[in-house]
Amino acid sequence: MKKESLWIQGIHPHITPSLAQDIETDILIIGGGLAGISTAFELRNKGRKVVLIDRDQIGFGASSQTTGKLTYLQELIYQQLESSLGTETADLYFQSQKEAIHLVQNYVKKYHIHCNLQKNKSITFTYQEKEIPTFQKEIQFLQRNSVPYQIKKNNGIEDVSYAIEVEDTYVFHPVKYILALKKLCQKEGIIFYEHTEALTLDKEKEKYLVKTPQGSIRANQVIVTTHYPFFTIPFFLPLRSHIERSYLTASKVDTIQNINAITSTNPTASFRFHQDKDSYFLYVGGSHSLGDQLDYQQNYQKVIEKARSYHKEIDYVWQNHDIMTNDHLPFIGQLKKSDSHLFIATGFNTWGMTNGVLAGKILGDLVLGKENPYRTLFLPYRGITFESVKNFMMDTVHSTKTYALSHFKNYYSFYLGEVQITKLDGKKCGIYIDVTGKRHLVHPICPHLKCGLTFNTFTKTWDCPCHGSRFSIDGDCLQGPSLYSIRF
Ligand SMILES: Cc1cc2nc3c(=O)[nH]c(=O)nc-3n(C[C@H](O)[C@H](O)[C@H](O)COP(=O)(O)OP(=O)(O)OC[C@H]3O[C@@H](n4cnc5c(N)ncnc54)[C@H](O)[C@@H]3O)c2cc1C
Repeated sequence: MKKESLWIQGIHPHITPSLAQDIETDILIIGGGLAGISTAFELRNKGRKVVLIDRDQIGFGASSQTTGKLTYLQELIYQQLESSLGTETADLYFQSQKEAIHLVQNYVKKYHIHCNLQKNKSITFTYQEKEIPTFQKEIQFLQRNSVPYQIKKNNGIEDVSYAIEVEDTYVFHPVKYILALKKLCQKEGIIFYEHTEALTLDKEKEKYLVKTPQGSIRANQVIVTTHYPFFTIPFFLPLRSHIERSYLTASKVDTIQNINAITSTNPTASFRFHQDKDSYFLYVGGSHSLGDQLDYQQNYQKVIEKARSYHKEIDYVWQNHDIMTNDHLPFIGQLKKSDSHLFIATGFNTWGMTNGVLAGKILGDLVLGKENPYRTLFLPYRGITFESVKNFMMDTVHSTKTYALSHFKNYYSFYLGEVQITKLDGKKCGIYIDVTGKRHLVHPICPHLKCGLTFNTFTKTWDCPCHGSRFSIDGDCLQGPSLYSIRF
């Protein structure tokens, strides 16, 4: 069983060189996941100089760790949006998701992209009878929007209490799609710098100045598509969202079914099939708010056991987390009202395949000064609603608790012998003792907002329970928002 995502297996992209000097550009995109690459793709061929930088490899962030579903049936989102934000908002969100799916379909066809795009039925299901009334509200939404659906008592692989099934949705291989867009962008003159991390973002004489370890970039317009922003101010995402983590497995199977399914409530259970040279069953489970369950080894084991109840052999296991916004809508567009040249796309609420593609279309339009029907829907500085205030209060209590607990030594009773939290020279020190007995020392405080780090005994990484940064046993930063290492 490999502790890696299925989507990076056998993928060996040509990596572009890092930035080597100071440069100037019209448009700078920071972050090359699905959102960033889709934005670059929409801006190709428009007479502007576009540069995209990524701290790692393009396509190897959260977008390489997903289930790769392209669906508008997203749990029971429409009845939730209808009740919290109104019918018009729910309808518009539905149209936006349909449009994203059409965009991918069209691009795959037009540019002959090989990314295993496969038409699929999407299912939302529950094991609990008491949820049926909520499902019926979702059905009313589907009826009003003339969406064909079926009601079932089976989710395709087992009997359940209730299920809604819709057609005209898809699954794909997210990394193959991203790398195909990257190639098309390169042909159209877009410049990529990989292993180039944005450290700061400032404004100087009407231009943005982004500093990286290898040089500075001056740009007229900047688009931030880094999953979690690498800056806290402006925008202050920690107050507008929380993070949810899940665990994924992939098992080789002989036959596939053209269905994908997800439960309506937490903890989520979700699955799909993938067909390539080999065929796989992907299972996702154990979702939890990041700070809630810190014994990651136990979380993994539970999901592995559940996945084994469907298929005995597990070939791949990995984890992913996503940013959940207070009002359940992503943030896509101008970051601040007062600044019409700075843009962001984040907070995809675990639906960043459709919303990442959509972000590309919206940001492409806005940067080029065109109107877009979804501009107001996803406005990053939109007003607060009752729903967002309620969730803000719950998230604040939760993150304060996580922050406080993360600093208590006794919290980590599950470490057993291989990890110690102690003090050396008056400074907090985390020690991981490897199988050879070698001690690896770090300062286990996240440089981002100073949360105490938890040792992930499954992946052997130090993980931030507040905002998802991850560090190696020797303290190198593997995943942001942190920009700095935690070497002792
Ligand atoms: C368990 C799970 C399953 C999911 N399954 C689905 C699904 O089936 N369908 C769906 O629609 N969504 C799904 N999602 C959601 C989806 O994975 C994300 O929303 C999406 O991948 C986010 O894309 P992104 O482009 O914003 O981020 P990323 O793919 O993470 O891209 C961000 C990029 O920015 C780079 N970066 C970060 N910081 C910097 C910096 N300072 N300087 C330069 N570069 C930087 C990173 O290296 C990375 O390459 C799932 C989420 C989870 C948790």
